[in-house]
Amino acid sequence: REPDLRCQVLVLGSGPGGYTAAFRAADLGQDTVLVERYTSLGGVCLNVGCIPSKALLHAARVIEEAAHAADIGLDFGAPKIDLDKLRGHKEKTVGQMVKGLSGMAKQRKVTVVQGTGRFVSPNELEVEGADGRKIVRFEKAIIAAGSQAVKLPGFPWDDPRMMDSTDALDLTDVPKKLLVVGGGIIGLEMACVYDALGSEVTVVELMDQLMPGADADLVKPLQQRLSKRYGGIHLKVKVTGIEAGGKGLTATFEGEGAPAPQTYDRILVAVGRSPNGGKIDADKAGVTVTDRGFIPVDRQMRTNVPHIFAIGDLVGQPMLAHKATHEGKVAAEVAAGQKSEFVARVIPSVAYTDPEIAWVGMTEGEAKKAGVAYGIGKFPHIASARAVGIGRTEGFTKLIFDEATHRLIGAGIVAPNAGDLIAELALAIEMGAEAADIGLTVHPHPTLSESVGLAAEVYEGTITDLY
Ligand code: FAD
Repeated sequence: REPDLRCQVLVLGSGPGGYTAAFRAADLGQDTVLVERYTSLGGVCLNVGCIPSKALLHAARVIEEAAHAADIGLDFGAPKIDLDKLRGHKEKTVGQMVKGLSGMAKQRKVTVVQGTGRFVSPNELEVEGADGRKIVRFEKAIIAAGSQAVKLPGFPWDDPRMMDSTDALDLTDVPKKLLVVGGGIIGLEMACVYDALGSEVTVVELMDQLMPGADADLVKPLQQRLSKRYGGIHLKVKVTGIEAGGKGLTATFEGEGAPAPQTYDRILVAVGRSPNGGKIDADKAGVTVTDRGFIPVDRQMRTNVPHIFAIGDLVGQPMLAHKATHEGKVAAEVAAGQKSEFVARVIPSVAYTDPEIAWVGMTEGEAKKAGVAYGIGKFPHIASARAVGIGRTEGFTKLIFDEATHRLIGAGIVAPNAGDLIAELALAIEMGAEAADIGLTVHPHPTLSESVGLAAEVYEGTITDLY
């Protein structure tokens, strides 16, 4: 069959990886087609991930700040929550950005084809859309089909009270009792939102700490705050069953210290995401996909088929938007004949909880495991006048240095704006900064960013008392 469309670069999926790749390819003069199954561009991140969750977390932060304002003589009283308006704020935020993406695609003459794509040969993708099937013939392809929430089997998923992160972001109501299964970043961010809106939240996590992967000391201030507010935080506990009944969803638990069965108004399951690599007939193009649905790539984002690239969540961890965008750029540049590589030394992780937890590079746990001789510079925020002034002294800034070179190898920050503060440390690691470079950099006063320089000075021994 003759193709309906021909292009130099085809991008499958319009998430942060896909749209970045498509825009870069077009900017480099490539005739580009972007295939997306949904009507709005932006993928998980923009439509049902990073952006709507942060819009709601902003509301949670405002509620919390207002509640604590009474401590400094500003009593705003109990919040009156208009869920429709709040949902509207989230939708407006997303809508504005989706519109922006469509405009940017148009401006670059990227052809957007709406429909579900599957490979039919190494140079052809079939797209099934509202107006039938189309064959797009491409010279190069970039697979950016992303990931989706893991739905644990055996749970009553057809019950509307069961939620994955997408359902939780819909904010249908504020359940009186909410169980969050999975104490990772996504579960805890949504827990923060519902807690602020008034739900009694219980969190169950299989591992021995919340946010597995982060150093335990970073998680502690958050856990301390949550344990005062939540119905319960149960670690090393597994949900073995969920039963749907007239009065709610009854969950049963297993593990040391597991609670007795409890009934909840809603249950959010946030136990990870699985890549979509296995759902696009990649084999028809000869592209290798692992059993779990990941697509292996090299540093140029090439799959085993040299003219087909893959990026974003479906090439592996960490499943983060800022990793996808950088990979997308590399794939587009290589597809256009440039000699780019994805060689990021580090990719920062941020939980936009309250407080935020951010880390980059090696964790202390990883350094220990790898047998690296390391030293720590830690600055507690209780010693920061700014932190005292805003009533947020629970956090700290922790820098991990290689003892042999004094180079920064990792960092972690717990603070209300840790996600913004961690960027400097990602740059420091990329640039091979030593403790002295960081300590001698003049940071603005009074900010929490000073804690970065001060933590380096603590490591160097040029500050010994934290006044
Ligand atoms: P995706 O964003 O998953 O996009 C893939 C696109 O491909 C989708 O639009 C999909 O519809 C389309 N597609 C798939 N298969 C086909 C097909 N066969 N045909 C046509 N189209 C197809 N990351 C962060 O960095 N920061 C955050 O704060 C953050 N918060 C998050 C909060 C939540 C609740 C969730 C769920 C995720 C969050 N993430 C966050 C992760 C982030 O969303 C992902 O890492 C990111 O979206 C991955 O981008 P991607 O381009 O690989 O794919």
